[in-house]
Amino acid sequence: MTTLPAQSSEIPYARQHIDADDIAAVSAVLGSDWLTTGPNIDQFEQHVAAYCGARFTIAVSSATAGLHAALHAAGVKPGDRVWTSPNSFVASANCARYCGATVDFVDIDPRTYNFSAREFERKLARAKSTNTLPKAIVTVHFGGQPCELQELAALAQQHGIFVIEDASHALGATYAGSPIGAGRFSNAAVFSFQATKSITTGEGGMVATNREDVAKSVRLFRWHGITREPQHMIDPHADEPWRYEQISVGFNYLMTDIQAALGTSQLAKLNAFVNRRAQLAARYDQGLAGLPLQLPHRDAGSTSAWHLYPVQVLGNDRRTARRNLYDALLREGVRSQVHYIPIHTQPYYRQLGFRDGDFPAAEHYYGGALTLPLFFDMSERDQDRVVEIVRAAVAPQ
Ligand SMILES: *Cc1c(COP(=O)(O)O)cnc(C)c1O
Repeated sequence: MTTLPAQSSEIPYARQHIDADDIAAVSAVLGSDWLTTGPNIDQFEQHVAAYCGARFTIAVSSATAGLHAALHAAGVKPGDRVWTSPNSFVASANCARYCGATVDFVDIDPRTYNFSAREFERKLARAKSTNTLPKAIVTVHFGGQPCELQELAALAQQHGIFVIEDASHALGATYAGSPIGAGRFSNAAVFSFQATKSITTGEGGMVATNREDVAKSVRLFRWHGITREPQHMIDPHADEPWRYEQISVGFNYLMTDIQAALGTSQLAKLNAFVNRRAQLAARYDQGLAGLPLQLPHRDAGSTSAWHLYPVQVLGNDRRTARRNLYDALLREGVRSQVHYIPIHTQPYYRQLGFRDGDFPAAEHYYGGALTLPLFFDMSERDQDRVVEIVRAAVAPQ
């Protein structure tokens, strides 16, 4: 089989936007003294902190690494429980497994597809009576739409549960008038800068927190538990200016200076990225109105970062209808995706005891879910093409 170059008429479901400023920023680092952990890391951390209003930000090699570090900072260890959303990328659950914790899920709100506060309340009541409360939750802002943070935080607080936002989709979103990452209703938020996310550093992530102890723990964890700061050392040795101390055990979860420079350059465009995505989402809302599709939820108290534009095919034979829609788009060179296969139905999690039917709202949503193309450089002409194909494929016969 020969690989043909991508046709210009192909429409991907996501695509990064890299401009001349990004390329210049990366090139400048390549000619500098620092390729890793240099001045660009500090700068990028400060810019993200200023953008989202967090006291502390710690750059890491990926959101997966950031989630692991945040759960470690929460003190999660073998025997503990961590609850997350079944409608997410597997990283939201895997991070708990890295800490040796038991994973469980909280079913989604069928309108927003997010970790449901009502389900959380019900599940907490059951867990309290059986003494199986979670130590931490990893809540996910699916598609960039913030979840019910205030309600979740109030419930978590009653039971002393640590709240981590998997904000991989949500850099640029706002909740109750504050940017996601401001930390008013959680202990830490974790962003991803993987290629398809709000801004990209290729691979990369950031932990945002207002808690100094969490920030300190994440900083140690991202580099072998090593500190160079005398005030954090057990035995500082003022006569050894080269001294570093390993005071705990951590990983190599460092971001490079090259990536951080790209991150700062991308961050300058974040508002433009989000605004354009919001415009395109509004155009989809209009173009797809009146079809047997559930369009993305809009919430008066929050704004989405529009990482995804997920639609849900409605009706009795939704699995077939979704497959037909996927195929109809593909025939015309339009790539769509499904977010997400419920995590608990993955073979690894089944082998831990989960079954079909455990989280019916997530499973039901998955049965009809399809994510349509949405990216900064998508032309309105291409979007109209997508809308036309969708209308022809799902319109009642
Ligand atoms: C992308 C993503 C992650 C993982 O991010 P990486 O930076 O690739 O590790 C975690 N959670 C969700 C919801 C994601 O979409």
